Amino acid sequence: MSNKVHLGHTARKRFGQNFLTDEGVISSIVGAISPDNDHVMVEIGPGLGALTEPVADSIDNLTVVELDRDLVERLQVHPVLKDKLTIHQGDALQFDFSKLQQDGKKMKVFGNLPYNISTPLMFHLFEFAQHIETMHFMLQKEVVLRLSASPGSKAYGRLTVMAQYFCQVVPVLEVPPQCFTPPPKVDSAVVRLLPYDDKPWPCKDVNVLRHLCTTAFNMRRKTLRNNLKGMLDDSDFESLNIDSTLRPEQISVEQYVAMANLYIDKTA
Ligand code: SAM
Repeated sequence: MSNKVHLGHTARKRFGQNFLTDEGVISSIVGAISPDNDHVMVEIGPGLGALTEPVADSIDNLTVVELDRDLVERLQVHPVLKDKLTIHQGDALQFDFSKLQQDGKKMKVFGNLPYNISTPLMFHLFEFAQHIETMHFMLQKEVVLRLSASPGSKAYGRLTVMAQYFCQVVPVLEVPPQCFTPPPKVDSAVVRLLPYDDKPWPCKDVNVLRHLCTTAFNMRRKTLRNNLKGMLDDSDFESLNIDSTLRPEQISVEQYVAMANLYIDKTA
């Protein structure tokens, strides 16, 4: 049988379908998620239920967001899951996660994410960080390296700065391709993201921080001064004690926030 067929379903590449099949990895992820009834539990891309079933086992209700209509139909008639699931058929990239918050409970969000949309999905979820207690995601290993990178490293970029602005980032587990059906062409890893209640470096307007990071990392090989021309000048860098001849990947999250706050004050 083709390795694309799992539990009678043919994996769809366009939906990034690589189903988790390794029991040891599944139980490690469920342990890391630590499901409970004190939070709104939310899974993105439940698929055939590899994580859904063991998570639902220990809680009363689980909300899922799944794009593939065939998989939604299977979940709706699933003998064990159907009474516990609240199913939203649709695109997680367009989904308003804030509407899931109930009774003042924060969300625990998790998923083995479709790798083709994982970076835009991370940016989308950061918008809801204040409603979220924890996030646990299986991602392409390279994306986990970017999320957790330190300044000065090759992996450090716009995604790193925005992730570490909103969350503490903790790599949890590396997962090889053979733990999935069909196996992905890349290595995978699980990451834990813990949104801050009190951000270590608060920004006065996160839209400005986002714009400044996009502009700064637009040309990685150019200096900060060059990339941010038009936003900050030499005296601004001097007042912040930032060497503007450095490259964008050499600047810390704290310094990006300081630059954004200065720009906000300047243009107020
Ligand atoms: N959770 C299952 C597992 O671990 O075996 C499936 C994981 S598979 C990598 C990704 C899942 O996300 C699939 O079920 C796929 O249909 C779903 N998906 C793909 N794009 C999506 C989107 N934009 N919004 C919500 N779900 C999506």
